[in-house]
Amino acid sequence: MSPVPVTRTADELADHLEGVRAGGGAVGFVPTMGALHRGHAALVDAAAAVCDAVVVSVFVNPLQFAPGEDLDAYPRTLDADLALAADHGATVAFVPTVDAMYPEGDDRVAADGVRRVDPGPVALPLEGEGRPTHFAGVAEVVARLFVAVGPCHAFFGEKDFQQLQVVRHLVAALGLPVDVVGCPTVRDADGLALSSRNAYLTPAERAAAPVLHRTLCDGAEAVGRPGWDRATVEADMAAAIAAEPTGALEYVVVVDPTTLLPPEAPEPGDALRLLVACRFGRARLIDNVPALAG
Ligand code: AMP
Repeated sequence: MSPVPVTRTADELADHLEGVRAGGGAVGFVPTMGALHRGHAALVDAAAAVCDAVVVSVFVNPLQFAPGEDLDAYPRTLDADLALAADHGATVAFVPTVDAMYPEGDDRVAADGVRRVDPGPVALPLEGEGRPTHFAGVAEVVARLFVAVGPCHAFFGEKDFQQLQVVRHLVAALGLPVDVVGCPTVRDADGLALSSRNAYLTPAERAAAPVLHRTLCDGAEAVGRPGWDRATVEADMAAAIAAEPTGALEYVVVVDPTTLLPPEAPEPGDALRLLVACRFGRARLIDNVPALAG
C-alpha cells in the first residue's frame, strides 16, 4: 500500500479533512513521536474501526524532553512510519516542523510563565517527580495538536497511563471538542510493553526487562487478596525488580487510577493501578497494569 499523504501545517491538514467534515464524518486522531511499532498500529486500527478519516501525527516534541534526555537520539523512521500508518487505515499524516508547532520558538515556550497549558495535579506524582517539566511539554503539544486537528476522537495508549490521565484532564479543563479513547497496552510475547525506547536495550537488558510486567502482574494478584497491605505489596514488587541486577528501579507503586496518589481506604472491588519506572542501561522503561482491590 502506498504511504499516506503528508501534511505539514494545520492549514494543509484542515484542507485535507474538509471533505470528511462537510459530510459529517468522524475524524480519528493518533498522536505519536514516530518510530511506530505494533502498539501504535493498534491505536490506528482502533481509530480506523470507528472513524471516517484517521490522522496520524509524527512529531518528536522537544518540550517534553529535559536537557540531557534522549531528544537527539530518539529514533526517527518516517518512511517506515508512513507505510505502517497506511497499512492500518490512516488516511493522512500530520508531520509538522518544530517551527510550525512553536512559531514563537520552542525555547521561549519552554520558559517559565510563557507556557499556556497546565497539565493539572495528576502530572505531579510519579513521572512528574523525576521529570518535572515533562507533562507540561506533553500538555502543550497535545493541546496544539488538538487545535490543529479540530473536533475528533483521539486514541492514546494505556502504556503511558499517567499521560492518558493528563490528556483527559486537559481536555476537560479547556473544554476541547475531543473524545479521548484509552487503548490497552500491546506487549511482546514475554510481556515486555512495546516501546520505541526498547531499541536502546542491549540483548542482556532485553532479556531482563520482562521482570517489570511479571512483577506488576504478581502485584495485581496480591492487591486482589483480602487483607492486602499497600506498603508490603510495593516492597515485595521493589524486591523482585531489585533482584534483577541490570535494572535500576525508580518507582513501583499501587495508586488510585484517577489521582495517581495512594488510594484512600480502598474498598474491595475498587479500581487500582500499579505503575513502574525502571532504567535498563540507556533505556528508561515505564509500564502499568490495572487491578481490583481485594
Ligand atoms: P509515543 O510515540 O511513544 O509518544 O506514543 C504515541 C502513542 O502510542 C501514545 O498514546 C502511547 O501511549 C501509545 N503507545 C506507545 N506504546 C504503546 C504500546 N505498547 N501499546 C499501546 N499503545 C502504545
